[in-house]
Amino acid sequence: MKILVPVKRVLDYNVKPRVKSDGTGVDLANVKMSMNPFDEIGVEEAIRLKEKGVATEIVAVSVGPAKAQETLRTALAMGADRAILVQTDDAVEPLAIAKILKAIADAEAPGLVILGKQAIDDDNNQTGQMLAALTGWAQGTFASAVAVDGDSVNVTREVDGGLETVKLKLPAIVTTDLRLNEPRYASLPNIMKAKSKPLDTKTPADYGVDTAPRVKVVKVSEPAARSAGIKVADVDELVAKLKAMGVHS
Ligand code: AMP
Repeated sequence: MKILVPVKRVLDYNVKPRVKSDGTGVDLANVKMSMNPFDEIGVEEAIRLKEKGVATEIVAVSVGPAKAQETLRTALAMGADRAILVQTDDAVEPLAIAKILKAIADAEAPGLVILGKQAIDDDNNQTGQMLAALTGWAQGTFASAVAVDGDSVNVTREVDGGLETVKLKLPAIVTTDLRLNEPRYASLPNIMKAKSKPLDTKTPADYGVDTAPRVKVVKVSEPAARSAGIKVADVDELVAKLKAMGVHS
């Protein structure tokens, strides 16, 4: 079984985003970019399924600028077998990403597509669900456990107040939640090996997908600044201050 893992290049999760002075978006010039953390979890899960003998090939896909090659090389260094870069400098919305992934899924015929539950830059949480709608395949979103069982997959989902397990017929779409696994770091020899793994470059037009935006971003602004806190010497002072503020137990 082949597994497709879409991976997005995003602002590194340790970087504090800076809004552009004209309010049109987040400033991405000269800031550290990395693989979306939920996608690292997707790559890790695919590798574990390959190690268990369930999967035979892992194909990583990224839609983005030429630099998204680095993200794909990271996936290859972790253990993906080959990669497809769908190159564009435009900001591509989830529906267009899902259409591109649908075209790739048609061509590659994977048994599973494992996406992140959301990309941490735009927090859309849409692409996996849209891809499920476009392909007509079953979806298991917010996965905290994935177990392939013959021609189906059991996906344990983190829902409000507990866990739900759904059984999906393959091929299926899975989106990862934080507790699914802890992604591995790529070793130096694997980083070297990844340089010679195959990476195809395509464009959205190759898949017949128009990436023109349908949503207009009106304004992006910083969150309101929080006022500074104060330090208290001990519990008595804390209690006295809370009482003075009118906070009672
Ligand atoms: P979103 O719907 O934008 O929050 O993204 C959900 C998931 O879709 C991500 O975690 C990725 O697995 C996938 N995805 C979104 N955008 C891209 C992209 N540009 N390239 C590859 N995968 C993507």
